[in-house]
Formats: sequence, C-alpha cells, structure tokens
Amino acid sequence: MKSGIVYTGEPSAEELSRCPGRPSPGRLERGPVAVIECVQEIPCNPCEYSCPRGAIRVGVPITGLPRLDEEKCTGCGACIPACPGLAIFQVDYNHGDGQALVSFPYEYLPLPREGDEVQATDRGGRVVTGGKVIKVRKPDRNDGTAVVSLAVPREFADQVRSMARLGRCNS
Ligand code: SF4
Ligand code: SF4
Repeated sequence: MKSGIVYTGEPSAEELSRCPGRPSPGRLERGPVAVIECVQEIPCNPCEYSCPRGAIRVGVPITGLPRLDEEKCTGCGACIPACPGLAIFQVDYNHGDGQALVSFPYEYLPLPREGDEVQATDRGGRVVTGGKVIKVRKPDRNDGTAVVSLAVPREFADQVRSMARLGRCNS
C-alpha cells in the first residue's frame, strides 16, 4: 500500500524526516516551538506572514516548503490558526510531571472545555493515549479557527496532533 500525503492524507515518516518546518530534537528539548508539518509543494504562504518573529520562510517560488528558523521561534503559536492546511502545531516537551503540551488547530464544534479529559489522536485520527485539555484559544482572526492545547505523556508528543471525545470508536 502506498504511503504519504498524496495517497493517505497523512504525511509519511519519510516525508516528515525531510520536512524543513520541523525543529531539531535539541530545539524541542529547549521549550515550546512550532512544528510545521507541511510536506506538499503547493502555492501557499499565509504562515510566512503570520509569524511576528520572521521565523517562517516560504519565499520564491511560493510553492516552496515553509522553512522554520528554530532559533527565532519563541513558540508563541500565532502561526497555528493561520494555516489553511491545518499543518502547524506547537510542542512543549517540558510541561512538567512527565507531560508535554501539544497545541493544534481544531475546527469542530462544540469546542472542548479546559480540564476535559479526551482521547489524543495521531495524524491519521487514531487514538494513541489519553490527554487533558489545558487551554482553548479562539482567535477572531483566521475565521475563528480554535487552538487546543493538550497535555499528554511526553513519549507521545511526536505522535499526538489532535483529539477526539472520550468514547469515540476508531476501529
Ligand atoms: S510559534 Fe510564533 S514565533 Fe514560532 S513560528 Fe509560529 S508564529 Fe513564529
Ligand atoms: S500556510 Fe500551512 S499549508 Fe500553507 S505553506 Fe504554510 S504550512 Fe503549508
């Protein structure tokens, strides 16, 4: 079976490994940072203009993959809701007590509430672990795309990219 974003809608491990928007393991260890998992060369660049630090560069041609300058990125998360492809996340490996905080765009209603216990899902919507909603932001910009921050066990921080309500069947 073929893998990759074109065939499954989900980036493959190989696509992610050469994606210029993903920070290095060392930068991930140092604190919150954007994780840009944009692997398709499409004409798109709102991420570039969303970053107040100039940490994202698409450049010319506009079909280039966004490149993250991990040293400029403060992990503010402003770029997350700006991406129409829902391809930008923020990860903080040091949330505490063996937990990481993963923030992602969320466009389903009703929105979760802070404190909710939910199922943390991977890039393909499969449940990987449990999580607790720590923060829900709903900026007026970007058509009101919400950003949910979920605390999950640290070992799942590179897998978790969204959430589902408890009780959902993923089989
Ligand atoms: S998290 Fe903030 S600083 Fe980092 S790339 Fe996104 S907008 Fe820029
Ligand atoms: S806005 Fe999203 S889809 Fe568009 S280039 Fe940036 S990361 Fe890729």
